[in-house]
Amino acid sequence: MMLKNIFFKAALLSSLLLTTVQSSAAQGKNTAGGEKFTVVLDPGHGGHDAGTVGTGRRKIYEKHVVLKVALKLEKLLNENMDDVRVLLTRRTDVYPRFIDRVNTANKNDADIFISIHCNSVENVKRDGPRVRGAETYVMATQKAAANLEISKKENAAMMLEENYRETYKNFDPSDLASNIGKSLEQFSTIKNSISLATMAQEGFEDTGSRKNLGVKQAVLYVTYATVVPAVLVELGFLSNPEEEDFLHSEKGQQQMAQSLYEAISKYKVRFFDSRQHGPKANAPVDFDAIMAEQTGNVNQTQPAGDKTSAGEHSGGVYYCVQLISSPKTVNVKTEPTLRKFQSVEYYRENGMYKYTMPKTSTFAKAQQQLSQAKSKGAKTAFIVAFRDGKKIDTAAARKLTGE
Ligand SMILES: [Zn+2]
Repeated sequence: MMLKNIFFKAALLSSLLLTTVQSSAAQGKNTAGGEKFTVVLDPGHGGHDAGTVGTGRRKIYEKHVVLKVALKLEKLLNENMDDVRVLLTRRTDVYPRFIDRVNTANKNDADIFISIHCNSVENVKRDGPRVRGAETYVMATQKAAANLEISKKENAAMMLEENYRETYKNFDPSDLASNIGKSLEQFSTIKNSISLATMAQEGFEDTGSRKNLGVKQAVLYVTYATVVPAVLVELGFLSNPEEEDFLHSEKGQQQMAQSLYEAISKYKVRFFDSRQHGPKANAPVDFDAIMAEQTGNVNQTQPAGDKTSAGEHSGGVYYCVQLISSPKTVNVKTEPTLRKFQSVEYYRENGMYKYTMPKTSTFAKAQQQLSQAKSKGAKTAFIVAFRDGKKIDTAAARKLTGE
């Protein structure tokens, strides 16, 4: 049954509009005072709601797998990040209401919300063996909301909750495009959600060795009602025997937790540590444009310095002082070299994370930055050059900038 037949229509979604304001306030919070990066992990389903049962070969279902991955991820975060606060919507086999999952993020001023799930095909016998891979969902933007399939199984358990009509009366997916599309376009959190989703997919592919099914848009309650950047990850298909074995194994669960840990680290470096909190609340959001931006390489970084002095004036050519490189993301606040720098960015190359000072438009400015870097103890720092987001030879770049 389609959800649109079930939910009451609400003409005004005033609660959503109000929370937009809270969202930008939360995003703009100052990190200088030692505030912690708050991560809310939401293991899907639980209790009476088993989630997908996969191939049916086992008595351990989606609700068990996602809880184990969430607990492993919590451990990784607590052990490896000193300025993080991790909250779980459940720690045992219980069923939290959808609204309580969302409120764990909204009422605790969370920085990100990650709902963790496993996937399944409808026809397990026919499609199970051939469908595999990991995907991540973000809340649909206006353009897409009109054309999207409204119902998805991840919303379904909501209707088993007592008083669900009253609790979720403002959530009418069939009205999304017409009634609240415009305010959705203004949701500053969508852009951050897409960044987080992209990082999660990179983690699933690189560290989890999963097939990358990409970042997708959907109308899901947990990503709709959260006022903070929110994603719903589908770790893999329990309807696929091989993927089910992987996700049930200790090693597979650890690998998926590690994938998400790396995504969270990357997100934190970009949006929290560098005190870059995303676009202003009224910036227009376009899914396709953001996705195009994400596919670039150095474009993953944002200029943390003064934009007027650090532009790309000479045909998209710019320079960066590279400080360190690492096979994994590092905590820029505690890493011995990076912690001496006010703002740090990174790009990825050959599987390595390369941390740099903010980009500059001329080689001369890069040279000044390089001597600053060396005086701060970054003895092996050097200058790298880019053209249109692609790394180029420094000598070639100097010709282009006439230096
Ligand atoms: Zn699920």
